[in-house]
Amino acid sequence: MLERQQLHGAAFVAAPLEETLRILPESSPIARAWNNLVEQIRAQQTLSGLESRMSTFGSTVELQRWESLFNSLSEGIVVSDRRHAVTLANNSARALLRLPADSTPPGQSILSLLEAVLPAETAQQLHQLSAGSIAFSCELKLGADLAAGVLRVSRMPLVGQTTDDSQAIWTIRDITQQRLAEEMRNQFVFTATHELRTPLANIRAYAELLATQEEIPLDQQKDFYNIINAEATRLGRFINDLLNISQMETGAFAIVRHETDVERLVEEIVNHVSPQATQKRQRLDCHMPPKCPKLSVDKDKFSAALVNLLGNAIKYTPEEGRVSFRVEPDHDQVRFLVEDTGYGISTEELPRLFQKFFRSSDSRVREITGSGLGLAFSQEVARLHGGKLTVTSELNKGSLFTLSLPL
Ligand code: ADP
Repeated sequence: MLERQQLHGAAFVAAPLEETLRILPESSPIARAWNNLVEQIRAQQTLSGLESRMSTFGSTVELQRWESLFNSLSEGIVVSDRRHAVTLANNSARALLRLPADSTPPGQSILSLLEAVLPAETAQQLHQLSAGSIAFSCELKLGADLAAGVLRVSRMPLVGQTTDDSQAIWTIRDITQQRLAEEMRNQFVFTATHELRTPLANIRAYAELLATQEEIPLDQQKDFYNIINAEATRLGRFINDLLNISQMETGAFAIVRHETDVERLVEEIVNHVSPQATQKRQRLDCHMPPKCPKLSVDKDKFSAALVNLLGNAIKYTPEEGRVSFRVEPDHDQVRFLVEDTGYGISTEELPRLFQKFFRSSDSRVREITGSGLGLAFSQEVARLHGGKLTVTSELNKGSLFTLSLPL
């Protein structure tokens, strides 16, 4: 009887079966069979509940896994709809577009997000390109200088969509380091070719003259030998610069300190560079303090770093200009200051001055031979001594290089 009531209830009440059908007092074989049935139904319900919870949990875990994978990609990935509105963006894309890490750009136009990080001319280039076919790829500079950053931006149709109503997938990659390395390689090839070929050509030409021409006056012969000697010295200096730089790259560039008398060191340096200044009819002033503490430095490398700075001051100052070399001891450091009234360095070029192979694009500098390695060397020498090399400069006014050493 009770079974019939329950079955009636199950037919008309919209509640789960396991709630409608109950266990009965086992007074008859039918009641026992009934109870078995109810228990089986309950067990089945529990099992299917568990299965459904497991599958929800599984898909959440899968989704989280994909999301963390998506966010761990180093490339910026953005999905946009046909109006360029962002529908999905990973963490790298947010970082490259300079958006807060937890921000949600959906809805904003990918073009205006890119535009916000680009200078005006580059933004225009992006607009022109993106107005064309859906698939495109371009390199966008974030500033006039490569070091400001370079992005490679590509757009592809999202596979499985029709062209008409398509979504697009954008990849944004920071390729600044790659471009800087390429620029440095090009500069190296240019400098190496120039700095090896020019002196070699001169040496060969003058040696040939001496070998083939008869009756060259003695003083002219001497001039030719001097040119050969100067060009061989230039070759040697460049190879030396390259060796130093290669040691700096491999970490093998080290210093050996010795107690050094600063007065003697300065005298040697000035004697070394003064013929260059005399040749350009420049005034070379040297100011030493009445008393200077002894320094513990690698004498050869330290004096080579200062010779570089003074040599540059003389090279990049026109004839009859002024170069001054001052030593200023302080309570905790000694400063070596090299000042000139020369060509100076523009504000745009100043940040790249200590980069290897950097040479100014100033035509007055380009006329003078150089490898672009001297300042990188001097800066490394200052660093290895626990000091630093700084510069202030104004175009067409002059420059001041300061090498500070802690005591
Ligand atoms: P190099 O003199 O062989 O070219 P450096 O590394 O010594 O190489 O200098 C790098 C560049 O920095 C130079 O080519 C020049 O453009 C600039 N520079 C260095 N010193 C001076 C200076 N005193 N005045 C103006 N420009 C300078």
